[in-house]
Amino acid sequence: MNILIINGLLIDPSQNMEKSGALLIEDDRIKGIVDPASYSINGDTAFLKDQKDKPYTVIDAAGKWVVPGLIDMHVHFRDPGYEYKEDIITGTMAAMSGGFTSVCAMPNTRPINDNKTVTRYMISKAHDAGYANLFPIAAVSKGSGGAELSEIYDLVDAGAVAVSDDGMPVASAGLLRMALLYMKPLGIPLIDHPEELSLSKTGYMNEGVASVKLGLNGIPQTAESVAVARDIMIAAETGSRLHLAHISTRYSIELVRWAKKMGIPVTCEVTTNHFSLNEDAVDGYNTNAKLNPPLRSERDRQAVLEALSDGTIDCIVTDHAPHGHDEKEVEFDKALNGISGLETSVGLSLKLVHDKIINKKQFVQLMSHTPSLIVNLKNKGTLKAGADADVTIIDPDKKWVVDKNKFVSKGRNTPFHGRELKGRALMTIAGGKIHGNTRT
Ligand SMILES: [Zn+2]
Repeated sequence: MNILIINGLLIDPSQNMEKSGALLIEDDRIKGIVDPASYSINGDTAFLKDQKDKPYTVIDAAGKWVVPGLIDMHVHFRDPGYEYKEDIITGTMAAMSGGFTSVCAMPNTRPINDNKTVTRYMISKAHDAGYANLFPIAAVSKGSGGAELSEIYDLVDAGAVAVSDDGMPVASAGLLRMALLYMKPLGIPLIDHPEELSLSKTGYMNEGVASVKLGLNGIPQTAESVAVARDIMIAAETGSRLHLAHISTRYSIELVRWAKKMGIPVTCEVTTNHFSLNEDAVDGYNTNAKLNPPLRSERDRQAVLEALSDGTIDCIVTDHAPHGHDEKEVEFDKALNGISGLETSVGLSLKLVHDKIINKKQFVQLMSHTPSLIVNLKNKGTLKAGADADVTIIDPDKKWVVDKNKFVSKGRNTPFHGRELKGRALMTIAGGKIHGNTRT
């Protein structure tokens, strides 16, 4: 499809660009930014002055942001194996609805994505569905069991863009070291879920005043920071790329800040949940606020905001974790962890811009450009000429109220139901195909 997006604010940190202008898309590629003098518009159709036989569909983005398609490098799509929670079709549709043109799917499916049959199945199902691009993350260890490395070279050959045992940490320092040394020539990141299980396993929420008040066993912040320290030390020794998933405590952040200062190849992410909420959201035993890592103290959340502002945190993810109704509507200790996050992420993240914690360019950096660099997605995360025609059009000021019953995702587990948000993705274009969310 040939498209001309006019009057929008083009924001592209890959070109250090923030200016209004017109973006031209031809088939599945970005053609470039064009001067108003170079085209003429007749109704919904435009023609380039030097190419009168080729019509372009006009999209008027006045008052909107036109940004490289958003990338969420941490989602759980439950397919294969738990399709009642989410499948690749509903997951990639929910991604598009939320403004994401690409997602990276974690391997904790059934079977675990530790072999190329599963990797290929995920890619081809997403490709056939034709919504967001799906890039699988394969398991570090066989069955994510922590005993033996998976066939990492085969998995990368089949299309995996990273490895992780997410849901669980890489089981031991020895295995992590072995994996990082083995993977080094591949240039892909190992994504660790930093958790010291001996410190966390009896807890259900952050350890602190709130857990005492509710009478629930707590998870101390050290359960995360001890693992972060382990991971950073091994990344320093091996020189291999390590990405820390969903960091949530001020101590973890200080460790990452130090590691970056030392030149250790570490990157990290935060979830929309952990910068939007603190442990008080668990009040009333709200299972929709039960996460792993748990929602932390307000002091930790403030440290996360500061780290988003100063660039210590590299990207924002949803950790989209859809669950069935019966898996959340149970006693707090029995409820599964996670939030269905793809359709609220843009609205929650734009609050950071409205509150002046980050600027517009940082928003795009955190949600598109940097993730594209971390998982090596060539031709994505940018509006440069020749890049894939993945574009998100955002209305930053649109006020709307989250209604979980309108989610495209099968997962209705959200603590944000009923919350008013300011800003949302209005249109998502992936590979030159328009998926409008003309919801008002
Ligand atoms: Zn995790």
